[in-house]
Amino acid sequence: MKHLYVGATPEADPEALTAVRARVGSEFGVPVREVELPGVEFAYDAGRNQYGSIPVLEMLSRCCPADALKLLAVTERDLFIPVLTFVFGHAQLGGRVAVISLARLRQEFYGLPPDRDVFLERASKEALHETGHTFGLVHCPVERCAMSLATGIRHIDLKNAAFCPSCAARLKRSSRES
Ligand SMILES: [Zn+2]
Ligand SMILES: [Zn+2]
Repeated sequence: MKHLYVGATPEADPEALTAVRARVGSEFGVPVREVELPGVEFAYDAGRNQYGSIPVLEMLSRCCPADALKLLAVTERDLFIPVLTFVFGHAQLGGRVAVISLARLRQEFYGLPPDRDVFLERASKEALHETGHTFGLVHCPVERCAMSLATGIRHIDLKNAAFCPSCAARLKRSSRES
């Protein structure tokens, strides 16, 4: 039996990790296992004061347990890829590893009063989105679908923490193949 591993880097919010584990477990129908992950300091880019998501994915590929169907990492570090100012997360399309960043998911980041429920909901949506990519799902034109592309926090808030019927059907086919 292959497992969906969900782990966090040492500084990550434990409550967000718990929420993400529960959500991906129920949505992907694969048993979830915990794994401890190292910090991502090696991916730090001093010029941008951010962390490269590509080296993080490479590290995750190396520490992916043998019985892992997928490995999702949760980090507080603000991630980027060279062509974008930031990314909420990054995944290998149809691969085994994905990462989400909590850095831009809190209301405080936008100068607003803290809201734990909003924060945890956003983390769950991003976890579904990036894990969906590892199952081969691409960006979806349905705005409320978890697979729609979010370039800003308001886009994330428009989405549901669930897949639209067509992405859900594609996911079912892809999990049968893996
Ligand atoms: Zn995406
Ligand atoms: Zn969809």
